Amino acid sequence: MNLILFGPPAAGKGTQAKRLVDERGYVQLSTGDMLRAARKSGSELGMRVAAIMDSGSLVSDEIVIELIEDALDHNVGAPGFIFDGFPRTVAQAEALDALMARHGQKIDLVVRLEVDSQSLMDRIAKRYAEQGRADDNPDAYKVRLDAYTAQTAPLVPYYEKQGKLVGVDGMADVQTVAQAIDRALG
Ligand code: AMP
Repeated sequence: MNLILFGPPAAGKGTQAKRLVDERGYVQLSTGDMLRAARKSGSELGMRVAAIMDSGSLVSDEIVIELIEDALDHNVGAPGFIFDGFPRTVAQAEALDALMARHGQKIDLVVRLEVDSQSLMDRIAKRYAEQGRADDNPDAYKVRLDAYTAQTAPLVPYYEKQGKLVGVDGMADVQTVAQAIDRALG
């Protein structure tokens, strides 16, 4: 089972992905986590993306597609993949379909976590106060939400056309969201 957790930043994708890793042994592929790890390690890639990430903009498709390609190559035989924060553009979605096909696999399900924008703002303000993530500051978060609307939201019709999109109420508590995702997974 290969699943995309889809939704705006702070919709709860990471929380649900980690639970599915624990409960089902799936492999979580979060490009945000990979990029943050690259920055922490001080690699050339990390230095290249730092300012872009802090501004809230998306890094280039080439960079994240390569990260996903490497991760798929290193996890052959995994019981399933959860894509979290990827794809974020139609070009990334097309590349993912091609990469999966090359591995004899496909995306089975896209779970869209639906959260209204006021709740997203409240969650981010709380996370910024608690964790101080640079791209959670109000200016950067606005850029991230705008990037979501302009570049990522077009993936909704992309996956609808493929008949893979399932909507889940992301405003509910973590347990209720988890149960809804489990029902969608079957
Ligand atoms: P995230 O933790 O998923 O919100 O990602 C944090 C930041 O990493 C984003 O605001 C982007 O700058 C970058 N990033 C993560 N995933 C992607 C992606 N699939 N495409 C482009 N940029 C990404």
